[in-house]
Amino acid sequence: MIQNNIELLNDRIIETLNKCGRNIDTVRLVAVSKRFPTSSIKEAQEAGQRLFGENYIQEANDKYHELHGNVQFHFIGHLQSNKAKIAAEICSMIETVNSFKLAKKLNNHLVPLTKTLDILVQVNTGDDTNKSGIAPDKVGDLLRKISKLPMLRALGLMTIPPFTENPDNARSFFQELRLLSQSLSKEKLFFDNNRVELSMGMSNDYRIAIEEGATLVRIGTAIFGQRVATRQNQQI
Ligand SMILES: *Cc1c(COP(=O)(O)O)cnc(C)c1O
Repeated sequence: MIQNNIELLNDRIIETLNKCGRNIDTVRLVAVSKRFPTSSIKEAQEAGQRLFGENYIQEANDKYHELHGNVQFHFIGHLQSNKAKIAAEICSMIETVNSFKLAKKLNNHLVPLTKTLDILVQVNTGDDTNKSGIAPDKVGDLLRKISKLPMLRALGLMTIPPFTENPDNARSFFQELRLLSQSLSKEKLFFDNNRVELSMGMSNDYRIAIEEGATLVRIGTAIFGQRVATRQNQQI
């Protein structure tokens, strides 16, 4: 089932890219494996999937070791500073950097590892008080400070729009993120200003996100199925 879902998704992603005149290799699929077992990740890897998204660092760490490090993780959850060390060690990208304090912690842990780490700044589009991420007008300042941290490469922006039943309602938030990234890249605030990453779009709205310029789509349910709610996290 996982294999079929991944194949179907890759087809739909290409279809959407074709429809809006984008090259087929401009979007990467992040398979969100949170709360699914390591065996599900293995199954997806056998179907050719390379990139996975996790939102609890302890869970990601357990899976990382079960897979003997043979997995590429993007961290997509709220990262507490006291978990920055593990995140720096096991992730290839942190998509949810939302403060200079966290960025500095990550950088400090990366120095002895001599590892550079890709990051995205999480933006609170729509000013949703329930979501973490920083206000759009604060992103420039944060990127300016992050650019002084030698071990971090700020590749772009990430957002989780407020939940709505109709995926088309997310479009304006995706547009907002793209416009913000364009003005920040004019100021040369990213690591590569000709190729800025935009992580936006989940199972129900990834096609709209791709139409609006997403380069990373984070998809869980449409690959692995419905997650069982845990007490830690009732809402997702
Ligand atoms: C869980 C999660 C996703 C995946 O959501 P689905 O609707 O299952 O595709 C994407 N992004 C973030 C930040 C998440 O926490």
